[in-house]
Amino acid sequence: MDKNQLPRLSAGRRIILVFAVSALAGIALVGAALMHSLDRAALAQSRTYLESQSGTLARQCESEIAEAQRDLLFLSKMPAFQQLPYVDQIDPAINGVPENVDVEKRQLLTLTLNRTERFSVLYVLRPNADIYMVEPFGLQPKLTKNNLADTPYYQEAVRTKHVVVSDSFIGADGVPAVVVLAPILADSGDVTGYLGGAFHLTRLSQLVSKERITPYDAGFMVDRKGYLIAHTDVGLLKEGVRERFVQHPLVSRFLSSGSDPAEKGQGAVFLDDCVDPTDAKHYLAAFVPLRWGWALALLRDRDSVMGEVQPVIWRITGLAALLFLIVSAIGLAIAQRIGKRWEAAERALRASEADLRATLANLERSNKELEQFAYVASHDLQEPLRMVSSYTQLLAQRYEGQLDEKAKKYIDYAVDGAIRMQRLINDLLTYSRVGSRGNPLAPTDSHAVLGDVLRNLAAMIEENRALVTNDDLPTVRADALQLAQVFQNLIANAIKFRSEDLPRVHVSARDQGREWVFSVADNGIGIDPQYAERIFVIFQRLHTRDEYPGTGIGLAVCMRIVERHGGRIWFESELEKGSTFYFTVPK
Ligand code: ADP
Repeated sequence: MDKNQLPRLSAGRRIILVFAVSALAGIALVGAALMHSLDRAALAQSRTYLESQSGTLARQCESEIAEAQRDLLFLSKMPAFQQLPYVDQIDPAINGVPENVDVEKRQLLTLTLNRTERFSVLYVLRPNADIYMVEPFGLQPKLTKNNLADTPYYQEAVRTKHVVVSDSFIGADGVPAVVVLAPILADSGDVTGYLGGAFHLTRLSQLVSKERITPYDAGFMVDRKGYLIAHTDVGLLKEGVRERFVQHPLVSRFLSSGSDPAEKGQGAVFLDDCVDPTDAKHYLAAFVPLRWGWALALLRDRDSVMGEVQPVIWRITGLAALLFLIVSAIGLAIAQRIGKRWEAAERALRASEADLRATLANLERSNKELEQFAYVASHDLQEPLRMVSSYTQLLAQRYEGQLDEKAKKYIDYAVDGAIRMQRLINDLLTYSRVGSRGNPLAPTDSHAVLGDVLRNLAAMIEENRALVTNDDLPTVRADALQLAQVFQNLIANAIKFRSEDLPRVHVSARDQGREWVFSVADNGIGIDPQYAERIFVIFQRLHTRDEYPGTGIGLAVCMRIVERHGGRIWFESELEKGSTFYFTVPK
């Protein structure tokens, strides 16, 4: 399709279109920005929540184990546990002493089991890790296969003589557990035995479970080997699943962070987003290294956070969009009105522009015609006029002596009329030639031009004993002949319209930035300012021919010439004091 044939939208429609597009873009932009910032706020809030919850939970879990340690330490300090007096009655078949031996210890163990509900099994070991007693007694024979002396926690207890916590394992009852082992110290400081308890990890899972602290999507604890020891989903505490958590990105990072608890940042909460390899979901995570090399993690599914805030975000964005739409609708209405006015103004402007162009063209044409007419008329009139004056003069010569005084007077009048008419026609010719016969504008030394003019006017200057002075005059872009004409007319007028005093005329020029301002000042009769316009009109004079000779064309010619040069002409005057004529020539 041709480019020019594309439908052109009017200015009004364009304004409306621009407004509508920017309103829509605004809505989209505000909506997107709002959604983005609300999303970020929701994520930040979830992270803060995870951070505080994981801190609280970590403290609860730690104190749970610490209490178990305290329980055993308390028991170990009781006089009943200071010695193991019935070592000789240990029966390998039942893996310890019989049920009815050392009853006091057994009662205390039963009491602790029932009171605290923390332990599934409590047992007493000899210093060499042989089993002395297990409570409940029913489990005692089942523990035979365990060689406790080889376990790292036993060795740690031997080495440190402190209460220790084992890594997690699946207990004899199938429940995941850890062992808390407290050395029984005699007053001498020697270890007389060990008190151990299998701590049920389901208790920790209950702490971490969703019912206790909501909302987070998952929470778990691992031991120092990375094995799961608690999970919001208790069902996961199975042998096969436990391995998986060693590979969890959070845990593997933690396990590789060094062995010193200080290096692992024990007690501090780390916010650490991760992608779970099993479900490939993106999680916000809080991770807390605990005592004994354990760690707690709380996870929040990033999508579920977004899912929760999404309705709110949509509602707010919708509301904002609605508001924007209302504002836009009002704006659109205003834009429409402005557009209509704009269009009307544009139409009017185009119309008046066309009018102006037409008027100018008309003016130019009629000016040309007028000029042509004036030129032809004045040129063609000269011939018959010359005939009238020469034949009248011939008549006077031929019939000299035969004519009476009256006839001579009439002939004089006729000759005088013809001469005046000739002058008028000449003036008209000069006037009409300003536009049609001018030379191109060129750099002109106005000082030199003035010199020529003064030579032309030498007789008049001398006759009137006039004093004509001038400043330095610049070189300007002008038609030299026409500039001379302006100077000549203005200076001649200044001398002609003299007062009683001897005429004094001063010519000067002032630099006014973008133009030169010339002035011709005299001390003549002055001009009443009310004639400011009139004197520049062709054939307009303020005096009779008898008072001052002239045809009233001089200033009209000056004005035409100055205007042809792109300048202005005017005067300042005070009656009987003198006049100054100014004209400008653009640079
Ligand atoms: P003219 O000189 O032939 O009368 P101009 O167009 O030159 O025609 O001047 C028009 C009229 O302006 C003059 O008749 C005169 O009344 C007035 N005039 C022009 N120059 C001066 C002047 N320097 N001082 C006083 N009057 C002046």
